[in-house]
Amino acid sequence: MLLLYIRKKDNTETLRRNVQLIDQSATSVTLTLWGDHAQSFAGVEGSALGIKNAYVREYMGTYSVSINAGCRIEMNPESDECKELHKWFEGERSTIEVKSISTQANSGSSNFVDELRLFSFFTNPNLFIDDKGIYFNNIGVVTQIRSDNALYMSCATGDCSKKVTQNGSIYQCAANHSSTEYKYRYMVSMEISDICSTTWITLFNDKAEPFFGKTAMEMGELQQSDAETFKAILNSKVFAMHNFRCRGKNDTYNDVSRIKHNVFDIRQPNFEQYGIALDAAIKKLEAL
Ligand SMILES: [Zn+2]
Repeated sequence: MLLLYIRKKDNTETLRRNVQLIDQSATSVTLTLWGDHAQSFAGVEGSALGIKNAYVREYMGTYSVSINAGCRIEMNPESDECKELHKWFEGERSTIEVKSISTQANSGSSNFVDELRLFSFFTNPNLFIDDKGIYFNNIGVVTQIRSDNALYMSCATGDCSKKVTQNGSIYQCAANHSSTEYKYRYMVSMEISDICSTTWITLFNDKAEPFFGKTAMEMGELQQSDAETFKAILNSKVFAMHNFRCRGKNDTYNDVSRIKHNVFDIRQPNFEQYGIALDAAIKKLEAL
């Protein structure tokens, strides 16, 4: 149950309306209304709202509440909680200091700290993830690398990187390029573990070559000539700690939706910044 005051209203062009909500925790959050909800919204400062089926959006450490067509909003619902909220709002709202979780409290902190996430962050069923996904940093270790399919034979025509099938001495890709040559490319399945959970990611050629320190062609030759060394090079990265720059996105396959993590970059962890982030997390926990 939340009380609101309206800060911004631009439903003429985008049919979007931002409303500030607050409750007895003296914490405010932005509620974003879209479409019909934005147009028909009739709340005024001091209205109490009952909201069902809202999403929580997260962006760089800030949170907002968003709703879609399936959401229900009830204005000033009949309940004891509602009466108490009104009483609190009239009596104390003007005297308290409001914290907002929709604006960045600590603008001096780095993107690394603001965007540090565990993979388990994405298991919250009310987390809203749009088509762009959520970019984040994860401090973790590689715990498994599948060596069997770490490389594939790809098309040698131009920038085409599709898989080829061999037909006699000709290699053909799905885009119908034919050539007597092929090139190796990395496509490595790796399991990454952070302090809470694990996820499988796929590392593609441009990130895998600097990560393993060998070109895909060198690795392809090794795979044929010296399989032990080939595996040892892959496994040399197991249990090393890294800063994985990732994106979490909804992925729907056979009607089943799940969160898929893509890795865009692998960096050496900055332990000084990591320490600052852990410190801040401990302070937040202590304040609960
Ligand atoms: Zn091709």
